[in-house]
Amino acid sequence: MLVCPYCKNQEEIHLSDFQHSFGGLRRLAIVHKDHALIVDIDSSFSIRAAYITSFANVIGQPLVFKHFRVLTDVIFTKYFEFMTLWPDSKLIDIRACPSCIPHLYDVLNMAVDSLQYRSGSFANVLSASDKMSFVVIRKPHLVLLGLIDSKFDESKKLWFNAIADTYATSPPKTEVLVRIIEYLAPKITHMPTESHIYKLRTILAGGML
Ligand SMILES: [Zn+2]
Repeated sequence: MLVCPYCKNQEEIHLSDFQHSFGGLRRLAIVHKDHALIVDIDSSFSIRAAYITSFANVIGQPLVFKHFRVLTDVIFTKYFEFMTLWPDSKLIDIRACPSCIPHLYDVLNMAVDSLQYRSGSFANVLSASDKMSFVVIRKPHLVLLGLIDSKFDESKKLWFNAIADTYATSPPKTEVLVRIIEYLAPKITHMPTESHIYKLRTILAGGML
């Protein structure tokens, strides 16, 4: 059990979920309501160092939110952002959603709640300055949350659905995800075709995590 020195929240951490990083220590980040906690833990579960920081500093760090691990190697994408949640492996992938970072706590809460939503419904994240709307796409093994901003939404929804359909049993490697985004970005204004889907499958064959 890990207690946040800032907000006193308690976290149950499974160390085996995380690789040793340096000198036998494991570094991991935990998202709390308006801050992140980054800790270095040794194998006897002693905390060697702890930092309270902003959400931007969790990018690239092994991240924990409730009972989920979160993939944080965020890649640059604009106009086409989505995240995926994998209930069986307790994994949330925000790598293709840079806009999620400033509202990370609310976005991750929404993602976990979306497990209760019907496919095709909308999940919203409200903050003082922003409102983010995600379309919920449910498949047997994953939930995809596609960011909707009223531009080309109809074709985007079809692309989100195509991605969810072609995703296999785990998220793609980061370099494969980058290639998917590069391939899709110029095409989101048009409806996906059979040959687009075929190409998506070919790119995804490049490797899963
Ligand atoms: Zn805290």
